[in-house]
Amino acid sequence: MTTFKDLGVSDAILKALDAEGYTQPTPIQMKALPIVRKGRDLIGLAQTGTGKTAAFALPILDRLNANRKHAGEKSCRTLVLAPTRELAAQIGDSFRSYGRFLGLSTAVVFGGASMFKQKQALFRGVDILVATPGRLLDHVAQRSVRLENVEILVLDEADHMLDMGFIHDLKRIATLVPKHRQTLFFSATMPEPIAELAGQFLTNPERIAVTPVSSTAERVQQAVIHVDHAKKQDLLHHLLDTDPAIVRALVFTRTKHGADRVVKKLESAGHPAEAIHGNKNQGQRTRALDAFKKGNARLLVATEIAARGIDVDNVSHVINFDLPNVPEQYVHRIGRTARAGQGGLAISFCAPDERAYLKDIERLTKQAVPVMETDLSLRTPSAEERAPRPKGTGKRAPAKRAGPPGRKPAAQKHHASDAHGKAARKPSHARAEQGRDRGDRRDRKGNEVWSNAGPPRRLKRKPSRA
Ligand code: AMP
Repeated sequence: MTTFKDLGVSDAILKALDAEGYTQPTPIQMKALPIVRKGRDLIGLAQTGTGKTAAFALPILDRLNANRKHAGEKSCRTLVLAPTRELAAQIGDSFRSYGRFLGLSTAVVFGGASMFKQKQALFRGVDILVATPGRLLDHVAQRSVRLENVEILVLDEADHMLDMGFIHDLKRIATLVPKHRQTLFFSATMPEPIAELAGQFLTNPERIAVTPVSSTAERVQQAVIHVDHAKKQDLLHHLLDTDPAIVRALVFTRTKHGADRVVKKLESAGHPAEAIHGNKNQGQRTRALDAFKKGNARLLVATEIAARGIDVDNVSHVINFDLPNVPEQYVHRIGRTARAGQGGLAISFCAPDERAYLKDIERLTKQAVPVMETDLSLRTPSAEERAPRPKGTGKRAPAKRAGPPGRKPAAQKHHASDAHGKAARKPSHARAEQGRDRGDRRDRKGNEVWSNAGPPRRLKRKPSRA
């Protein structure tokens, strides 16, 4: 059986891994370590939960340690780009843990936190800089960081970066790092735009793939409950009251307002819960996450994007209060309960107008989600009812907007580059960060999907369905 030692990991890191309780490399670590050690560029098709952070962090730490030198003032030797604050913070923590006996320096910069403190951290130069693209470009613009000494560049969750509108920022960053460098590129999926992006960053890369997006689903037990929108909250309370196995649950809603509303009602029903989404400031997000990690809150209610990169052990249940309209998101969500090979249960609430989403998910995961019946369930729909198709077109009818009857219908799509008014004149990275914090509704191409809220500058208007 291959061990970390067989993969050439140094003694100082082996000691740290021992302290972390890692006894054996995961498949992606076995594949990636030898490639990264050779200095080759790499495309890794892998999602969070597979151990991909260590797959790039361990060989990077060893390489930096084997050739110790000062990065230079306001510079870094390794740059890791991540789409969200949480993921960036988590990657930074991983570098610090794995490298705790090496004495290398790590800094993490992301939006929503003090520029001043980040500038101080960058001033003397660092070995490893983990950054979200927008904030990194803010630092570049203010000359608090220079990228010309980057030896190794990592792009993590590239598909998610694209979803969040970071494409222009990434292209700009590509012009600021040296041509002669090693690049490691990770993505859970590889649709055409991601492959194109990879082509711009990588030189003659080696490719590895582990746990294709559909197979995470195999480790997680799944169930769907067909229920009316109006009864979803009661259903949630019912599950929490009657199922003691729900020890620590992540509840996903599609929108930020939805998350807040669910938390409010949970709390008034005596279920302590925390919310985490883009409208919360960094302090609130950290506090919510800590309360959940320490077990002070049994429930964390989150939107998709805020939950990316959250690495909490022993999440017993993922509850999809709303089904995501992008099927890959479902797999990401349920993967939060199957960390590092553990199992878990994912329960999805499916309203009649979300059945087409369910069908998409089942097509992606190549498995039917078993139906769970409760007192609040609707009659189990037939196969036709799950994905109604307009006659003659062969195409599935668009799912109607979720929401109580009587509200305005029709979801409209606006491409991110269609931004109107002031928003359109902002630098692209400012727009992307702004967009990320504004809402999590995007279609599979990364276009923003608005309900009836209109163009971005009118965002303060209450969305019709929150
Ligand atoms: P990641 O995919 O990097 O987000 O890692 C998912 C989880 O797996 C994290 O909690 C890691 O600490 C954990 N992990 C990574 N590698 C190993 C390993 N070789 N053995 C046990 N746990 C691991």
